[in-house]
Order: sequence, then C-alpha cells, then structure tokens
Amino acid sequence: MKFGGTSVGIPARFWIAVQRVAGARSRDPVVVVSALAGVTNLLVDFCRDPESRARIAARVAEWHADFAREVRLPPAAIEAPIEAWRADAEPLARGSEPLDGAERDRVMAHGELLAAALFAAGLEAAGVPARAIFAGDAGLVTDEHFGAAHPLPESEPELRAALGLRPPVPVVTGFIGRTRDGRTTTLGRGGSDYSAALIGAALGAEEIQIWTDTSGMLSADPRIVPEARPVPRLSFAEASELAYFGARVLHPKTLLPAIQREIPVRVLNTASPEDPGSLITPAADPSDSPWRVKSIACKQGIAAVTIVSTRMLLAHGFLARVFEVFGRHHIVVDLVTTSEVSISVTVDDPATLAPAIPELEAIGQVEVKHGLAVVAVVGEGAPKRVGLAGHLFTLIGGIGVAVEMISQGASRVNLSFVVREEEADKVVRLLHRGLGLDAELGAMRAGA
Ligand code: ADP
Ligand code: ASP
Ligand code: MG
Repeated sequence: MKFGGTSVGIPARFWIAVQRVAGARSRDPVVVVSALAGVTNLLVDFCRDPESRARIAARVAEWHADFAREVRLPPAAIEAPIEAWRADAEPLARGSEPLDGAERDRVMAHGELLAAALFAAGLEAAGVPARAIFAGDAGLVTDEHFGAAHPLPESEPELRAALGLRPPVPVVTGFIGRTRDGRTTTLGRGGSDYSAALIGAALGAEEIQIWTDTSGMLSADPRIVPEARPVPRLSFAEASELAYFGARVLHPKTLLPAIQREIPVRVLNTASPEDPGSLITPAADPSDSPWRVKSIACKQGIAAVTIVSTRMLLAHGFLARVFEVFGRHHIVVDLVTTSEVSISVTVDDPATLAPAIPELEAIGQVEVKHGLAVVAVVGEGAPKRVGLAGHLFTLIGGIGVAVEMISQGASRVNLSFVVREEEADKVVRLLHRGLGLDAELGAMRAGA
C-alpha cells in the first residue's frame, strides 16, 4: 500500500490513510510512503541554493513538528528523524556550493525518512504495531546512478528477507535506496510508486495499491481536463504507455516489476476510499469494448531531431549509423518517423542531445526543434480502429493546429503525435471531448 505525498502530507487525509492500513491488516500489508507533499521540492531548493539553506533547514524541521502536532501525534514520534535532519543539514548550510550526486541524494532522502516515522507513529496510535524502515535497510540496493538509481538484482531476496516477517507492519520509505557500500540513492522524482512495485514484486504481493489524490487513472490529466473521469480497468500495456507519456499518477517504471510478476496494480483515492479506482491487470477486461480510446496523456519539453542525408538515397546503413550515435550517448528516443533519406526522432531529455550533434552532423544535415509535446492516445486496439486517425487529425486540423510528427502502427495500444508545446493542452481537451471520453460522465450526471 503506497501513499503519496498528498495522502500522507495532508492532515485530514493522514488518518484516512492510517485507517486504510488498519482495515487491511488481515491481508498482511507493507506500507510505502512518500515525503509530505511539497517537502521534496523544498529539499531540491536546499540543494540548489546555498543562500537559503539555513532557512530551509529550519523550515523542514518545523514543518514536520507542526504536522505531528496537527495530527495529534506525540512530539517524540518525530524527534529522532528531525534530529537526524538537523545533524545533516546544519553543516551543509554553511557551504556555498550547490549539492549534487551522493550528497544531494542523502539530503533528498530525509523527506521520506520523516514521513515514514510519522506514518508508523500514526499506525501505532491507531493500535496497529508498525515500524518505520529506511528502504536501504530493507534491502533496496541500487547502482550508483545518484538521482536516478537502478535497483540491483540482489534487492529481491534482500527485500524478501527484511520484510518477510510481519507484523509489525513495515512502513518503508519510498523513492530511496542505498548502494552496496551504504550510500543513499534516489530513484528519480515520483519514484515512490516504483519503490512500492519493487517491494510488491519481491514479496509476491497479492496486489500493489497506489493511494493518491485522484480516483484512479483518469481519462486525462485532471489539471488539463477538469472533467476527466476514472478508467475502471486498464491493461499493463495501456497503463505503461500512459505513465510513460506523462500521466504523473504512476511513475513510468512502476509497472515493470508488476508486469514481471503479473501482480495487479490498483490506483485508489485516499480522500475517497470507497471509490473503486482503477485496476491494472496483464490484459484488459474482456468485457471492455475493444478498440476504445481510454485515456490521453501528454508529455511536454520534448525536442525533435531530424537528420537528412541525400547521400543515403538507395544506400544502406543510414538508420543503423544514426541509432549507434544515440545509443552511445545514452539518448532515449521515443517516437521515430523515417523516409528514404531522412529520419526524425523525439527525445524527452533535450539536455542529453548536445554532445551527439557533431556526430550526427557527420551523417547528414541536422535540425533540432525544441518546445514540443507528445500527445499519446491510448486504448488496446485503438490505433488500428478504422477511421480513428482520420477523425483525430480532422479535429486537430479544425482548430488550426499543425501536427509536427505522427507515429502510428508500431503500437497496438498507443497512437502518438507531436505538436507545439503551447498547443498541447488545447489539443488534449479537444480530443477528450471529440473522442467522447467525457461522455460516460455526462451520461452519469444526467442520471442515465
Ligand atoms: P502522489 O503524491 O500520490 O504520488 P502525484 O502528484 O505524483 O501524487 O500524482 C497524482 C497526480 O497526477 C494527480 O493529482 C494528477 O494531477 C496527475 N495526473 C496526470 N495524469 C493523470 C491521469 N491520467 N490520471 C490521474 N492523475 C493524473
Ligand atoms: N517525494 C518524491 C518526489 O516528490 C517521491 C515521490 O513523491 O514519489 O519526487
Ligand atoms: Mg507521485
């Protein structure tokens, strides 16, 4: 049972979350928590800005002490992790350089360490024996890729050994792990979902529950489309595409461990625990109407790279040479379109591009376009539905938006295309309405 920052970090929801765990005791749960909402951002500022460090150090300590008071936990519940934070933060506050690498990850980890202590104390107060555990101590061993660490294979047996004996209910820190030599690492922003899935898979859990602030995975990001509605059932493939293309409710890697072990993932709303949420399983619900678009995701900050080489007309090896360069520079490529003499790809981390450009220029003429967004229209079989692409692009053309790139046919669940970033929200809203994704909600409201 993973509770995000908006679940553990809002006093009114804290006790609902605790009660959910108490109610699930017979199922022998393991809890994973994120930092209280807003704390990780504050820790990012602490690392970046030496000037405000002393102020932030005090703010983080006060925030957690105030929170404990507000939810009526005894101050002792949070004393030790606050002291640990102060001991780490105070010497760093005297420094004048931004923090990175191992030092930054050690700072970032305090958010989850503090939250786990609070949540375990909440469970104890509710009569549920619990213990807060740093994921590193629970066996989540990673490589040394600070800021975006990868779990190592030995994590599985170690997590099993450390978390196998229950009760007390383990309350494990999300988002963080440790290297073989004991240094703290983080898994990337939003990584607590991934921690929960890694732990769930290692333990062979019955299901992995992601408790958040929406009633499941919705038909679009509710900040873009306020009328977005929950999608009751999704396949692993559908949910993976949505998570990858910007549905922040699940960290993009969350489904990997679940897929390997075929463990269902449920996305649930802490503020509204009776809502059914979304159930994500290996295959879509057979009673679902096939070919249906279920949700639209959108990822901004994308760059497109086009390489044109007329020399390659009727020659071979063009694509191989281009991808060799991307591979060597560890550049992740999302969408690809090609013609005989040109190739366009999208890259979601344009910062990684610079060193590769001179090498690509040796192959052909290179053009880089920044400020783009990928829009992903997702549903099992939907891309193959006759007329869907025509309908979709007619709608988009109707509002005068230019489509920069289209990728259709490679995926059975995702039809994606690229537009300019500033037009993306408008396009998502248009398609949500135009493809009827708000229709069921409308029908429900009308009492149908
Ligand atoms: P948590 O603190 O629980 O990890 P996050 O803020 O990381 O919560 O993720 C939940 C948020 O993800 C939602 O409040 C919503 O703004 C955003 N989101 C984006 N796309 C979707 C989607 N398709 N369904 C649900 N939420 C989405
Ligand atoms: N607290 C971390 C973050 O804000 C991890 C998470 O929320 O999943 O990125
Ligand atoms: Mg999250």
